[in-house]
Amino acid sequence: MSAENSSRASLTAKHGVRAWLTAAGDALTSVIFPSGCRICDALLTDSRRVPICGDCLSSFERVPSVICEVCGRPLPGLSQEQAQLRLCPACQDKTYAFECARSFAIYTGALVHAILLLKFEQIEPLGVWFAGRLAELVQSEPVRFAADVVVPVPLHRQRERERGYNQAALISKPLAKRLRLPHKAVLLMRTRARPDKHVLSLEERWASVRGAFATCPGSQVDNLRVLLVDDVLTTGATLDACARALREAGASSVLALTVARAVRNPLPSSVKW
Ligand SMILES: [Zn+2]
Ligand SMILES: [Zn+2]
Repeated sequence: MSAENSSRASLTAKHGVRAWLTAAGDALTSVIFPSGCRICDALLTDSRRVPICGDCLSSFERVPSVICEVCGRPLPGLSQEQAQLRLCPACQDKTYAFECARSFAIYTGALVHAILLLKFEQIEPLGVWFAGRLAELVQSEPVRFAADVVVPVPLHRQRERERGYNQAALISKPLAKRLRLPHKAVLLMRTRARPDKHVLSLEERWASVRGAFATCPGSQVDNLRVLLVDDVLTTGATLDACARALREAGASSVLALTVARAVRNPLPSSVKW
């Protein structure tokens, strides 16, 4: 065996040993320090890196199949046939600047806890798990979601500095990797922080994000199809404001993906641009 071959073989062996040690370490850790599911406290017996049990993960309520073609809002009471190419009232008014928005599950029950864990405890394996679910959405409609770049909804600089990370990027980064697309967190920035007030009315929510995003100076957006990623879609106002900034800078389309979708919010029909 040549010296080069033998060093390559030893590198491969080292890699294998390292992978084995990581797996063994995980298993050992779960035996020595048995930990509970961060949502229901059930004992986690396997060596999963996502600190949530299988029952909680499978309890997330999927978005129903009958939805608004543009914004993904569930359209209850319509048959699949009636709802084909149906638009919700907001999309009939052409409210949103994004091409379409889709979400993995409804923002309720265990998913609310899971999103909070991601947001405040930076649980990266959970971001990877969510990215896997969003990748499945993309792969189920490859033509609709054909994109050139993946971009997270940005936090304001100061907020990101305080928190130390952007929770949307914990999802968008592994998603870009799964889809083999470039991840460009620096493409978009938030130029105005969210007001400190905890609860915003629907109108305040729209007003607080209107014009609050811009593309970064020098960033190349022309003719790009952007896959925009966030944790939760509440009113769609944030994704809309991001999409406007990207489209004004020349993006050819903006496709929005979020892990969760709030459905109890009223439609922003009173909003005038
Ligand atoms: Zn659980
Ligand atoms: Zn809609």
